[in-house]
Amino acid sequence: MPADLDLIILGVGCAGLSLGMRLAANPGSCRRVMILESRKQYINDRTWCFWRLAPHRFDALIRHRWSQFAVRSARQSVVASCQHTPYQMLASEDFYTEARRIIDASNAVSLILDAPFHGEAKRVGSHWQLDTARGPLTANVVIDTRPPATAVDDVWLWQSFSGQEVSCDAAPFDTSTVQLMDFAAASHDEVRFTYLLPMSPERALVETTVFGTQPRHAAALAARQLSAVEKYCGGASYEVHRTESGLLPMGWRTRRTASKGSFVSAGIMHGGARPASGYAFERIQRWASETAHTLRRGGAPKPHRSDPLPTRTMDRLLLQVLRARPDLGPQLFVDLFSRADPGRIIRFLSDKGTLVDHLAMINALPARPFLRAVFAGRTHPSASGTT
Ligand SMILES: Cc1cc2nc3c(=O)[nH]c(=O)nc-3n(C[C@H](O)[C@H](O)[C@H](O)COP(=O)(O)OP(=O)(O)OC[C@H]3O[C@@H](n4cnc5c(N)ncnc54)[C@H](O)[C@@H]3O)c2cc1C
Repeated sequence: MPADLDLIILGVGCAGLSLGMRLAANPGSCRRVMILESRKQYINDRTWCFWRLAPHRFDALIRHRWSQFAVRSARQSVVASCQHTPYQMLASEDFYTEARRIIDASNAVSLILDAPFHGEAKRVGSHWQLDTARGPLTANVVIDTRPPATAVDDVWLWQSFSGQEVSCDAAPFDTSTVQLMDFAAASHDEVRFTYLLPMSPERALVETTVFGTQPRHAAALAARQLSAVEKYCGGASYEVHRTESGLLPMGWRTRRTASKGSFVSAGIMHGGARPASGYAFERIQRWASETAHTLRRGGAPKPHRSDPLPTRTMDRLLLQVLRARPDLGPQLFVDLFSRADPGRIIRFLSDKGTLVDHLAMINALPARPFLRAVFAGRTHPSASGTT
């Protein structure tokens, strides 16, 4: 008996919508797609930023672009130009609206909200069977983007952050420059900094960020977030319009494999995030494009690709150093951004680094902690990001 569906997607945030919208626009032979999502509605719950190295399908939705970014420690400040590859901001509400507009107009893809699925897909003959609240469903292919229960220790470093979009009575924000990392005093426990996206002289997203071995929920960052907002607003009164927070995995200790054949796990907790940065939006778009192309032709989908060896090695060493010596974090990033050409760093962070870019980064970083990390061996993160 044929399966009820060609494809079921479980969890429909960035990864699920990115794939769903591509199949909705051009389904090919993947014409019966159901996507099950636990949330009841989409809200503006995050901002995605990335450097624009090439034109992309969300160009028209970009709300802000910046041609400079700054990295600052207590001792030194670096301002770098990214005029030719601007740092750009996509509000999640614009992405969600666009994806749903395309999906709603399609006969091939149906998106069902308020439909949590907590079970497992079972192999029955040549199909997958899911016992959903709507009864049993069978599909040829299942793509699971739900975050798995993660053992905290399995992640090499957590990027925890809590941010607020604020507007001030005064005009304290310099709209020419993104504060990529404004470091707090060096600490032996964690790397701490503020990330600031100035949207107008009066309005900005101010985000307290920590790299550490333990995930830190928003409540644990609240005191630091309050002082960051007060500092940036320069004492002026302010209003909070929106909050966002996240826990992003930076490298996994063990290589995890949840995907098997026509069952594929994808998204941030399944290899979608770049270990060195925790960023995932562009990687998810690449995976969604490739997967849609494969599914249209009746092929078997694949999980996120592993990074090339030089990138994996750089990420692994960087994470090892930050984990062993978080106190070096502020100086390390300031050194990197002051000594290496920003274009090379941007390509490296955007998964487009050449071998020469990698070598230039090595040259810009302090040798001693990295040599220690090399000699500490490979007992550490599987920075491949592949699960
Ligand atoms: C606040 C924030 C800011 C970020 N900023 C950036 C950035 O600037 N640049 C960048 O590259 N990356 C950024 N990221 C990282 C990454 O791009 C996002 O986390 C991205 O949303 C990951 O996509 P995803 O599909 O893996 O997860 P999600 O978008 O979280 O989607 C997972 C979906 O699964 C659903 N779900 C969970 N459990 C179930 C269940 N049992 N049944 C059905 N559905 C379920 C959830 O409701 C959710 O919709 C940010 C992350 C956050 C949280």
